[in-house]
Amino acid sequence: MNLFNTFIMKAVSHLPKWFATPFAKPYVAGETTQEALKNVSKLNQKGFRATLDILGEHVLSSNFAKNITNQYCNLYKQISDEKLNCTISVKPSHIGLNISYSEALQNLKLISQRAKDLNNFLRIDMENSLLTDQTFKLLNECKSITKNIGVAVQAYLFRSLNDVNTLADSEFNARICKGIYKENSSVAFNDRLDIKNNFMLIAKSLVAKGSFAGYATHDQELIDELINWIQTEKIPKERFEFQTLFGVPMDGRLEELINEGYAVRIYVPFGPDWFDYSIRRLKENPDIAKYVMKNFFKNG
Ligand SMILES: Cc1cc2nc3c(=O)[nH]c(=O)nc-3n(C[C@H](O)[C@H](O)[C@H](O)COP(=O)(O)OP(=O)(O)OC[C@H]3O[C@@H](n4cnc5c(N)ncnc54)[C@H](O)[C@@H]3O)c2cc1C
Repeated sequence: MNLFNTFIMKAVSHLPKWFATPFAKPYVAGETTQEALKNVSKLNQKGFRATLDILGEHVLSSNFAKNITNQYCNLYKQISDEKLNCTISVKPSHIGLNISYSEALQNLKLISQRAKDLNNFLRIDMENSLLTDQTFKLLNECKSITKNIGVAVQAYLFRSLNDVNTLADSEFNARICKGIYKENSSVAFNDRLDIKNNFMLIAKSLVAKGSFAGYATHDQELIDELINWIQTEKIPKERFEFQTLFGVPMDGRLEELINEGYAVRIYVPFGPDWFDYSIRRLKENPDIAKYVMKNFFKNG
């Protein structure tokens, strides 16, 4: 790790919030629902699909988990009222999975029912590997409420290819991502190439099973590899979409994808709990600070 990154890793959580804000905040679409919906509307106008995520995780209060559940239910209504092309992504630990499985299930069922009533889709984010089994169980239980529900799978986990081979069918809908959590080498690949190869294997398995896939990555080489494969195998464009995180610079690649007729969805996190989330992301990827610095100089 270079000196700049080491400095950022050590310094950022000790800096006052106002100072850390420019480094931490470009990846968050605002603190309020109104700000987030405005950002989604702008993305839609540019041809992007979106998915909204209320920031937060590992909630230990039942009331708080219920409150977040209500916020998600209301969000579906606002998306519907404003006719936005936007789904919702939920972290199970944000709606109670660290309290108990049954609490998370009860809350996720409410959100699933609202998704069904308003003809929208629900994505369940995948968190650390201690929660993987329970997350798939939540998915399977909520499928009895709506078929418009999907999960994320992490290419860095050894188990993911087998999970997809076991669970996927023509109704399965998975976001494939590399995985963001610190995982032990007994359960996860560490090597970037291994992770990329596994990403491709999972993508191929999902196509073989007739499932829908979201390719969630900023890795331009991986996007190239996916496109090569998609074109060679003539994978229909309705069977997949590309996904990226709000605010990550992609040097015009997303617009190119849209111009080539591919669907692109932007993951749009928002909410008052942006600070801790952003600081964690920044520690996981201190390169973010470099992008912010670069943008300062570009804009200045
Ligand atoms: C839509 C979406 C949903 C996700 N959902 C989940 C989930 O449910 N569970 C989970 O564990 N992980 C999730 N992730 C995170 C994912 O697992 C990766 O950790 C993250 O996307 C970085 O991996 P990458 O594929 O972009 O490749 P990397 O090789 O890590 O990054 C490729 C390049 O993209 C750039 N880049 C990547 N991330 C950033 C960033 N934040 N800011 C600026 N530049 C960046 C850098 O130039 C980097 O070199 C999601 C990611 C996306 C895009």
